[in-house]
Amino acid sequence: MPQRLTDLPPLTALSAPLLTWSDTSPHSDDFDDVYFSREGGLEETEHVFLNTNRLPERFAAWKNTRAFVIGETGFGTGLNMLCAWACFEQHAPAGARLHFLSTEKYPLDQVSLGRALRAWPSLAGYSQLLCELWPSPVSGVHRLHLSDRVTLDLHYGDTTERLALLDGQVDAWFLDGFAPSKNPQMWQPELFEAMAARSRPGATFATFTCAGIVKRGLKAAGFSWKKVPGCGRKREILAGMIDTPPTDKRREATPWFTPPAPLPTQQVAVIGAGIAGCSVAAALAKRGVNVTVIEREAPGAGGSGNRQGALYVKLAADTNYQSRFYLSGLLYSQRWLNQLKAPTLWQPCGVVQLATNAKEAKRQQRFCEQHSLPKSVVSPLTQGLSEKAGVAIEAKHALFYPHAGWVRPKALCEHLLQTPNITLRQSDVTSLKREDKSWQLALSDGNTISADQVVIASAHYANMYAQTANLPLQQVRGQVSEVRLPAGVKGPKRVVCAGGYVSPAIEGVLTFGASFVPNNASSEVTDSDHQRNIDELRQTLPALVAELESAGTHLTPQAFEGRAAVRAASPDKTPYAGPVPNAPVWQSDYAVLAKDASRVPNAPGEHYPGLWISTAHGSRGLSSAPLCAELIASRLLDDPMPLEAQLVDHIHPGRRIISAIIRGQ
Ligand code: SAM
Repeated sequence: MPQRLTDLPPLTALSAPLLTWSDTSPHSDDFDDVYFSREGGLEETEHVFLNTNRLPERFAAWKNTRAFVIGETGFGTGLNMLCAWACFEQHAPAGARLHFLSTEKYPLDQVSLGRALRAWPSLAGYSQLLCELWPSPVSGVHRLHLSDRVTLDLHYGDTTERLALLDGQVDAWFLDGFAPSKNPQMWQPELFEAMAARSRPGATFATFTCAGIVKRGLKAAGFSWKKVPGCGRKREILAGMIDTPPTDKRREATPWFTPPAPLPTQQVAVIGAGIAGCSVAAALAKRGVNVTVIEREAPGAGGSGNRQGALYVKLAADTNYQSRFYLSGLLYSQRWLNQLKAPTLWQPCGVVQLATNAKEAKRQQRFCEQHSLPKSVVSPLTQGLSEKAGVAIEAKHALFYPHAGWVRPKALCEHLLQTPNITLRQSDVTSLKREDKSWQLALSDGNTISADQVVIASAHYANMYAQTANLPLQQVRGQVSEVRLPAGVKGPKRVVCAGGYVSPAIEGVLTFGASFVPNNASSEVTDSDHQRNIDELRQTLPALVAELESAGTHLTPQAFEGRAAVRAASPDKTPYAGPVPNAPVWQSDYAVLAKDASRVPNAPGEHYPGLWISTAHGSRGLSSAPLCAELIASRLLDDPMPLEAQLVDHIHPGRRIISAIIRGQ
């Protein structure tokens, strides 16, 4: 029986640990153990984890384009990470990158984190940013950009479970997580097996404990170890490595999703300068890749061209992979936008998602019962809706996303293109050809561009190439309506959404919409779409409509300005992000699935080398595209993925080919 990826564990809110403080030193009441040594914690971390893994020398010698990856079990206060970051800044050459990933089942709250890290004034510059970016306690992967060259992935949940879901490989392990005698549940054989399976050949580890269960577990999993002198409280500690890690067998049941081998990344071409293309260009450029963005019209000329758009998601009441992906996307986008430090581009004013009928109210209620996510992510709202929204609201139920909000998508695209290493070229890519290990992009102006790799991010034009022609994409027209608010009418102070959305006015202009017209490729502004938006506005915010009318605004299509654009959607309404499958080869290699879906051929999925795609973001690109950009940039550079392996597969551009074969189509 081939091995398969296990199902994702349920989405959960994580509890903060019970702590007893002695000044800035936290002690865990649950585990009756300390987070760090009160005397000499810094020296201990440096000795046990950094020097024992030989990080100063390894950082100094790091010349790879991929990041050096540290994996840690138990993030705690982040002291180990901060020390590794400081050590990297001190020793690594320019251009080198560090990727630190760490698991945590009981994340400290932000205040406790700040209090604990005050113990280390020499790390204040680093710890302040960590506190600022600290994610909400929801299970999943949270990617934090600490600098252009240092990335932190917090894998919230149980260590062993999370390492089994990790799509990435580690160079050096910090095996931490309270003493085995205090935390025996964690130090199990499965932990060491998961570490071995996610190790690069030659990966090292260091740990403060020499307990027999740890030595035996590591050895059984394939690590060699030796005792080395400790420091402080520890006379001896353990160091070791794994020469030949076991091969990753998780994709035996889904070999088509096996990631392609890494290729050169000196020069990458991105087709399309909407939010998908601009975010992928910026993600690559920040990693030192030279990127040429080729755009047929202008940045944000298509679906990303509105003056204002809402950043929000609609999550299914029962957990499904699509919702899990969108939630990760929303949380990532919020953090990513905040880091732009550009308040004119984005306002995290909060989003009120109204239940305008009984069915939706029930759905929202079920959602809250199923997940009870932290208030910092989403919470039910049954009182004070009008106060919260800043506009009279008739609905009795809503969900409130306090850190979502609105964005200026067009300006955001332009801003992202200012990232150093990006060149914008206005032209149309008419065909793609792979020649001599590089891609030749034929342009409509008669020129050709050459690139090591190509990312297609041109929304509904994405399947116009021979290599992508099999990708099912639907064109969806969307129109927003705009009206100048009359004197005395303010409109909402947060984004309010139901069927569509209404944003807080900017420069006195209220934007609402958008219409959603599948199989329509017209970008002409029409009265009928204005009418749809007006009808939707009447249903969502009838009191605002009454206020507008009594202030003399005629709610007829002729009174509105607007903009229409065509967006791309997939048949399952999930984006496509990842390598482009060679569809004819898949159809032949996996044809046997049509007869028996359990007879999985032992053939990894054939992809067009160095060809990637990010499209089908529909009307939720602000939530999905930045995370998809991270995923593609990470894969291109052979870095760990910002999502669980299951979700990486869920958005794979080849998924529909396999389901079509199985259905006999
Ligand atoms: N590395 C940390 C630092 O630099 O501050 C100290 C880690 S502290 C000693 C141990 C951490 O492991 C705690 O934060 C605890 O919540 C976490 N932990 C314990 N058991 C765990 C498990 N099964 N899965 C994930 N995290 C766990």
